[in-house]
Amino acid sequence: MLKRTASHYSRYEAELGEFRLLSSRAGALTAIVLVMAGVGLDYGIYPGHQLQFFVARLLVSVLIGLIFLLLVNQAGRRFVLPLTLAWLLLPQIMIAWMIAITDGASSIYYAGLNLVIFAVGIAMPMGLWQTVGFGAVTYLLYVIACLAHPEGLAQHDHFIVNSLFIVFSIAASAVYTFMNERGHFHLIRLKEEVARKNEELADINRRLADIKGQMLQQEKMAAIGTLAAGLLHEVNNPVNFCLMAIEVALEEPQAKENPSLEECLVDAKQGMQRIQHIVSDLKTFAYRKPGAEVEGTPFLFEKALDSSIRLTAHELRGVKVTRDLPDDTLVLGDEAAVIGVLINLFSNAALAMRKAGTQAPAIHTTIRWVESRLHVRVQDNGPGIASENLARVFEPFFTTRDVGQGLGLGLSISYAVIERHGGQLFAESEFGKWAAFSFDLPRAE
Ligand code: ADP
Repeated sequence: MLKRTASHYSRYEAELGEFRLLSSRAGALTAIVLVMAGVGLDYGIYPGHQLQFFVARLLVSVLIGLIFLLLVNQAGRRFVLPLTLAWLLLPQIMIAWMIAITDGASSIYYAGLNLVIFAVGIAMPMGLWQTVGFGAVTYLLYVIACLAHPEGLAQHDHFIVNSLFIVFSIAASAVYTFMNERGHFHLIRLKEEVARKNEELADINRRLADIKGQMLQQEKMAAIGTLAAGLLHEVNNPVNFCLMAIEVALEEPQAKENPSLEECLVDAKQGMQRIQHIVSDLKTFAYRKPGAEVEGTPFLFEKALDSSIRLTAHELRGVKVTRDLPDDTLVLGDEAAVIGVLINLFSNAALAMRKAGTQAPAIHTTIRWVESRLHVRVQDNGPGIASENLARVFEPFFTTRDVGQGLGLGLSISYAVIERHGGQLFAESEFGKWAAFSFDLPRAE
């Protein structure tokens, strides 16, 4: 609680600094105008001193003007308080001098002193003790002026009344300053509160966008799952009996005697096996439990890599796909989700390279163990990612694809998937040359 108050005070002081500078500048200009306008008062009350007072007013105005010039300078920022007090005291000294050489304690010019004290309380954002101090110095000047007059304090009734007026002004000015300071302080606390709430709101909005993205992806996966389940049912049986039929046909003497027939049957067998692979790849989606925990399912990353390459074969046509991997790639996690990540990386790379018309497009996957985690890096030689977009590619709905072509969700979902595996997905790129995405998965013990 104490710490919070201290931080509020430091913010309060910082904000006040700027306000103080502006008020001091405006106040100095106003003071010059009022000091010079006082010539009219001199004419009415002390016509005998008019020239003398005019010179004094001019001198004080020039001095205030010089301080004003300092205030608009860089130095003004650092010494705003002493400079403000300095220009505020100039008219007080001048008025005290006028009182001393005219009517002393019975001079009406004590009202001028009061006016400045009020102005300080109302218009100058100074602290309580500064206002009180300024009032005390003003009163001291008044006492000195009265004592310096030949009659001294002989007219003590005037002196007492005027003194009381000055003291009342100081009290009123102090109360106003105190209330003003409190008001300012509360305002700054309120501003901080609003800024904090705004930050919280922005955070909630970001989290909502993430959740929306994940839900959309889950819906997509569920749709693929339903489709895959139906397809499995419909395709698996015919494929199996076709394979059996081909095996039987291959054993027939006619096939053995006729090489071209045998070749046709072998081709057909390979085609069927390919369908079988794709069906088994889809199986991982079909029987996937939405929101399933990552732990407890060891799988061979190499197999997941094969599956994802097969599933993106169409997009990867014409792209040289190479890999560099260790013998053992048994990891722990959600195989279907990891396949989803790889599919996303491969199809993004293939698409970027096709769009940029990359010569000899290639994707290289490097896989290696670092302690108990399998590190995977998928690099392409496509157009790369501009540095200003590099940090944004994981943002939900960030896409550079044409309208209607991409949702901009792939990488944000992939990021969440890798995060669920206790890893991190990150992007690197040399714009115009290559882009690489790296992530890591836990080893299956
Ligand atoms: P989408 O593919 O729907 O645009 P993603 O989240 O998968 O959404 O990708 C976001 C953006 O990241 C892409 O629009 C593209 O600008 C950029 N990107 C991703 N991978 C690559 C890559 N290999 N090369 C260049 N840009 C890429």
